[in-house]
Amino acid sequence: MQHLDEIENLIKIVSKLPGLGPKSAKRIILKLISNRENILKPMAKVLGEIYKNISRCNECGSLKSADNCRNCNNVKQIKKICIVENVADQWSIESTNIFDGHFHVLGGTINSSSNSKDSFLIKSLLKKIHKNQVEEIIIATSATVEGQTTAYYIKDSLKNLKVKVSKLAQGLPVGGEIESLDDGTLYSAFKNRVGLDKESD
Ligand SMILES: [Zn+2]
Repeated sequence: MQHLDEIENLIKIVSKLPGLGPKSAKRIILKLISNRENILKPMAKVLGEIYKNISRCNECGSLKSADNCRNCNNVKQIKKICIVENVADQWSIESTNIFDGHFHVLGGTINSSSNSKDSFLIKSLLKKIHKNQVEEIIIATSATVEGQTTAYYIKDSLKNLKVKVSKLAQGLPVGGEIESLDDGTLYSAFKNRVGLDKESD
């Protein structure tokens, strides 16, 4: 293979993306280069804009554009909060249209190495619950060991509050990640969510 530093550097970066190894990275890069004007150029521009404008909201943990967080601003008064592990899970639940409340995005689970509990923004969550007289918290973490450990941690953090806490129904396959569920399964797990008894555990 020809050795071009720029291409080698890009292959290294693209290979880090989920589901892509060096071989598919090379294929993608060749496609970009052979479509300089209609893919490569607009992509370079959009990536620059994303880098500049898109970041994590310090209040809800979702993504915001510049200073505008749609998740925080869309809901005038927050009555229900759905807690998810990551933005992909938020998008999955949004696409089922079963929930139109506010999302709180943890940014990981307790055991995932790159995230500490600080990333969960619990203080901001508690503040939101107090300020809005929230009626229900729905914990929608995955049915994995990490997801369930995180759910118990969240539940424990809310134990002194008079707010109903529920979690998704058992329709979730064990080990199932929210992001990978089909819309029907996710919809029924959400619809049949069960209350968590705060006295137990
Ligand atoms: Zn926000």
